[in-house]
Amino acid sequence: MQPQCESLAIDVSALAPRGKLKRGKEAVACNLCTDTIQADMFNWNLHPASKIFENCPVCESRPRYRTLDVIFAKKVVPSLVNPKDQLSALVMSGTAWEQSILKKTFINIVNSCLYGDYGEGRIHADLRDLKPFDDQTFDYVHASGVLDFILEIDKVLTSVYRVLKPNGQFLFHILSHRLRDDDSPPTVEGTKRETYYPEGVVLPSIMYGKKDILRRMNQHRFSSEMVEMIDPFSGEHCTWFWGQKI
Ligand SMILES: [Zn+2]
Repeated sequence: MQPQCESLAIDVSALAPRGKLKRGKEAVACNLCTDTIQADMFNWNLHPASKIFENCPVCESRPRYRTLDVIFAKKVVPSLVNPKDQLSALVMSGTAWEQSILKKTFINIVNSCLYGDYGEGRIHADLRDLKPFDDQTFDYVHASGVLDFILEIDKVLTSVYRVLKPNGQFLFHILSHRLRDDDSPPTVEGTKRETYYPEGVVLPSIMYGKKDILRRMNQHRFSSEMVEMIDPFSGEHCTWFWGQKI
């Protein structure tokens, strides 16, 4: 199967690119809270443009959540095969915003993270083995901002494939500045440490080749598609990888 790549446009008529908003009078809308915001509402000294445009000043959503809402509706939902009341999802390190988007479709959501607290009922699972979960448990696995800190992508693809039901889907996001346009294998470019990590834990900071990711997805028997979007609200480039178990 050939890897695919496409760009999706956010279908919100009131959205305007960053350049227009900078001129001061035109309205933009956030597709998550659907609030339309007049640029001159803001005190530009208190709210530097970069801060405003990165996170929605009304709902505080990030660019990747706004693009997730679109990709989820256009890609994931139409590809679900099981009855709505039987759908279950595994969300890795999902924020409240991500969970609120997924809850519109999934009745059963299992929250998992290795470190930190992402809400009630979370399970501490490592995406490289997903040991707490049985084979063919989930219709969908979601990982945004997780592979950014895991070098062993092959282990991830093996474990996700295992826990997915037939035709199950894996959607993951990696920050654009971590992605090369080539087929180079993942490399460690630095380290990351947050205060909520256990004592002594330092995570590697990873760079990926986009084509290498798509090739590995195919090797692990996923369909592979890269979906690149410009979030009109922020102008930020967001890259998602979507695969369906085949
Ligand atoms: Zn908003």
